[in-house]
Amino acid sequence: MKDANAGLSQQTLMKQKLETAQIALAELKEDRNAKLRALSGFIGHLSLACKGQNLELDNKLAKLRASFSDVDRLDDILPELVDIERILKRQYSHVMTKLEQGRNGLVKFSRQLQRVESVPDKLRKEVNYFKQDVGKPFHTVWDYIPKVEQLISFYEQTLALCFDSEEPITYLPKYRQLAHELAQMISEIDFSKAQRDQVLVIKEQLATEIDIDALLESYQTILSMLLENIAKEKSASQEFLFALNEALMSVRDSINESLNQAQRNQQLKNQLNKDINSQVDNVESGLAVADNMEQMKHQVIEQLAVLRASLNRKEALEQREVAMLKKSVETLRNEINELTSETSSYKEKLFEQQKLNLLDSLTQLPNRAALDERMEQEYRHYQRNRNPLWVAVADIDHFKAINDSFGHSTGDKTLQVIAMALKNSLRDTEFVARYGGEEFVLLIPDVSHNDIGHLLNRVREKIKNIPFKFKNQRITVTLSIGAAKIIEGEHILETFERADAALYKAKHENRDRVIID
Ligand code: GH3
Ligand code: MG
Ligand code: MG
Repeated sequence: MKDANAGLSQQTLMKQKLETAQIALAELKEDRNAKLRALSGFIGHLSLACKGQNLELDNKLAKLRASFSDVDRLDDILPELVDIERILKRQYSHVMTKLEQGRNGLVKFSRQLQRVESVPDKLRKEVNYFKQDVGKPFHTVWDYIPKVEQLISFYEQTLALCFDSEEPITYLPKYRQLAHELAQMISEIDFSKAQRDQVLVIKEQLATEIDIDALLESYQTILSMLLENIAKEKSASQEFLFALNEALMSVRDSINESLNQAQRNQQLKNQLNKDINSQVDNVESGLAVADNMEQMKHQVIEQLAVLRASLNRKEALEQREVAMLKKSVETLRNEINELTSETSSYKEKLFEQQKLNLLDSLTQLPNRAALDERMEQEYRHYQRNRNPLWVAVADIDHFKAINDSFGHSTGDKTLQVIAMALKNSLRDTEFVARYGGEEFVLLIPDVSHNDIGHLLNRVREKIKNIPFKFKNQRITVTLSIGAAKIIEGEHILETFERADAALYKAKHENRDRVIID
């Protein structure tokens, strides 16, 4: 009876346990289905956002959306996903290639526009800035559209001018366009002091009605100047290595010489020590055989005189040795000093050269090449220590209006002042480069999420408070800034893209603000 009762209560317990497990399973299933529904809803929207790029992809995604509406059909979807992933990857590289082709097309069209002779100087300059701007890579299709619109507006302005003047459109011959471009290029290169006058003459020639022969000659002269600079750089390195070799050889000779001398001196000293020892022996044996005090005294005096002479010789030898050692240390020191000064002057030269290549000629800020280098460096640093690293993109607001109202040289000066203020508002470990046109990129390590807003707003306020005065008019220049912090698993170029997107947002939210991604 007792056993039967125990069996029954165990059965009840098991039943209760089973019911609890069933409830838990049902809850789990419901939770899983809710998550799947959220995920499939998200994938549905994501796939809709991809619509219109590729017909094959559109069909696959439509099927995918239909399958996602039924959670039980999820297993059938998996093989389809492999296919879709393949098409997506292909589509991505296709879009990137097309963007690059589009960018090159824009450069080509802007070059063509620069050949229209009746284009006024101001517009030509704008087209030039535009051409430089499209030299930067596009990240998304959306970068492309405003550029196309801008180029169309340049064409419209040109056509309007041509219609107004009722004169047929005339094009600069191709070689004149090349002359403009050569002039542009050489203004971005730093020539040596000795070459600058000649470069100035060439620049003036290029600005006038130059003919093909003269243009070719200019190209040749510039090319040979550049080659000369390369050769000079090369021969400076060779000269340095030669001097280094010479100096090292003479250091080696000095060391050998002092070693040989030390060896010779050691032999002499050994000999003297032997002599002194045998003289002491002589005194001892002389004393042992001496018959009386007088004889002993006489012998001691005699032997001491001999000993003193030997000790004097030894002292003289040691003094000579010290003097020689001093001399040879002096020679070595001089050689090494010369070598050090030669090395530092060479280092300085190299550093200057490097600086010239990495500085933007208008603002003297690091240029894009320098930015690329520093980004790599900061990224490597981040990978090692995982400390916070921020990328910020700053763009001057309505800068074109400054050029339009006060001229391009005022615009250039404004850029210089702002560049300097940006540089001065950062710490030594922080970095700012001119990314192009009126855009700057900042790299800021070791700043927390809480502090970055303060820091960037302080920079923004600093620029806003610069008392610009153009044509007696007080002008406030503002900046929009977008920033992003590098996150785990992300490449720094992706961080840059997020910062750029944040800048885009800042521009759309009325400018003069900082947006942190
Ligand atoms: P936004 O607030 O949207 O940034 O307007 P914005 O006018 O600053 O920007 P947009 O991109 O429309 O034009 C940038 C202008 O910057 C075009 C050109 O007039 C000017 N610019 C670019 N590079 C230089 C330069 O080296 N010197 C001068 N003076 N102006 C430049
Ligand atoms: Mg701007
Ligand atoms: Mg800009």
